[in-house]
Amino acid sequence: MVRINGKSIVKGIAIGRIMKFSKSENQVKREKINDIESEIKRYETANAEAKKQLNTLHEKALKEVGESGAAIFEVHEMMLEDDDYMDSVKNIIRTQEVNAEFAVATTGDNFSELFASMDDEYMKARAADVKDISERLIRILSGSSAETDAMNEPVIIMAEDLAPSETVQMDKEKLLAFVTRLGSSNSHTAILARTMNIPALINVDISDDWNGKTAIVDGYNGTLIIDPTEEVLKLMEARQKEDQENQQLLQDLKGKENITLDGHEINVYANIGNVSDVAHALSNDAGGIGLFRSEFLYLGTDDFPSEEEQFKAYRTVAENMAGKKVIIRTLDIGADKQADYFNLDKEENPAMGYRAIRICLSQPEIFKTQLRALLRASAFGNISIMFPMIISLEEVKQIREILSQVKKSLDEQEIVYHDVEIGVMIETPAAVMISDELAKEVDFFSIGTNDLTQYTLAIDRQNPKLDAFYDSHHPAILKMIKQVVDNGHKEGCWVGICGELAADLTLTKTFLEMGIDELSVSPSSILSLRKTIRETTLN
Ligand code: PEP
Ligand code: MG
Repeated sequence: MVRINGKSIVKGIAIGRIMKFSKSENQVKREKINDIESEIKRYETANAEAKKQLNTLHEKALKEVGESGAAIFEVHEMMLEDDDYMDSVKNIIRTQEVNAEFAVATTGDNFSELFASMDDEYMKARAADVKDISERLIRILSGSSAETDAMNEPVIIMAEDLAPSETVQMDKEKLLAFVTRLGSSNSHTAILARTMNIPALINVDISDDWNGKTAIVDGYNGTLIIDPTEEVLKLMEARQKEDQENQQLLQDLKGKENITLDGHEINVYANIGNVSDVAHALSNDAGGIGLFRSEFLYLGTDDFPSEEEQFKAYRTVAENMAGKKVIIRTLDIGADKQADYFNLDKEENPAMGYRAIRICLSQPEIFKTQLRALLRASAFGNISIMFPMIISLEEVKQIREILSQVKKSLDEQEIVYHDVEIGVMIETPAAVMISDELAKEVDFFSIGTNDLTQYTLAIDRQNPKLDAFYDSHHPAILKMIKQVVDNGHKEGCWVGICGELAADLTLTKTFLEMGIDELSVSPSSILSLRKTIRETTLN
């Protein structure tokens, strides 16, 4: 047994086999295709091959483990023949003009989310089966064999570093934990791990020799244990069980208000990165979506998502949230979130570079496509639009101008949309200082403490060496938050926090006393935040 120290970025215990992450594996790339019919044929051929494989497996299992053990392969075969499943794959290929692998992966995700959210235990269990058949199809389509398929059981991923675009594409059902050598607590990969609620360690001196070994990730103590002894394994399993029991206790808070002992209420919303996170937000009783990082729709693909694809994603989120507020942030690409097809230059200081609203305002066609998709989706729920990295009033005016052009073109085409609330992220010191003026232009503010800390303290949030200096409790940050709340309220703007600090329970009381109206946190933090709010009395 070996014990290695690292830095924990997500608490929790994971026990399982380590798998070295290799950059080319585990990812289904979205590719544009020209010949739709031959792509559909490719899918049909793969489907037939999958059925053949399952048939063989069924026969083998019948001989080796009997009827009940073999039945699962029959279920899988039936799923492969399901009309809804097949239609969905073909529709995605047709309407989005994409490769069969991508269409199967998307369908697999959607269907398994659907099953997972059902009340019936039997149906819930089918989520894993849908994933399984989708993976089989993808393996066949991409020519890799089941034996070499790296992620056919839940694993602890070990990597030098993980980019957000890699993390976002991983199959969450198969991820037990992350262990990386590089990375920082405030990076988007860390944020994604929190959103997925999987234990994660950074700064671990990883070794290729661990590949395939059993390990324990202890996110409470920041340690990784390789080849644990029976005794340690038992101890950690007990700890894991305790965790699950505590989670269970929090479930009692579902349906309860976010109200302090002396009657102050606050909204608690969820931060999400993609459509499938909505199920997680709902199962944790989110009052709304406070931040949908829309740029994740642009990552891990080889071309811009079309208006139609975006529309469908935003509409699905809005519909699933059933009238609850859904705040969608426009594209915040750049810095650590890179997509090749944007052709962004390498920059000396990417965090202070060409990113987010700066790209949108200088390439209005990209921006307009997104705004059209957002406005169209607004007819299907309660969508608000929020803009990142704002530093000036001029930017907000330009945004309003572009937005009115988009609305005009929708009017001309008689396409309906709702009157959406408009907000800005307050994540630069400049935005804080002019928040009195910005408040006159928008309906709400959402404070991005991740970037606000980075820009105020002059600390690169990506640099692991600076983690110890990255102090979000710095008085400068807290004073700024208070200033933004006061300036916002003077003009009737509501003010929320959607940076990671919102989930910091040691500051919950402070935020309530400041008059913050909303806290938006990763779905798994919602109920513990509610618990803290309900145990608080304001001064
Ligand atoms: C922030 O900066 O606090 C924020 C919420 O945005 P992101 O973490 O995506 O930069
Ligand atoms: Mg930010």
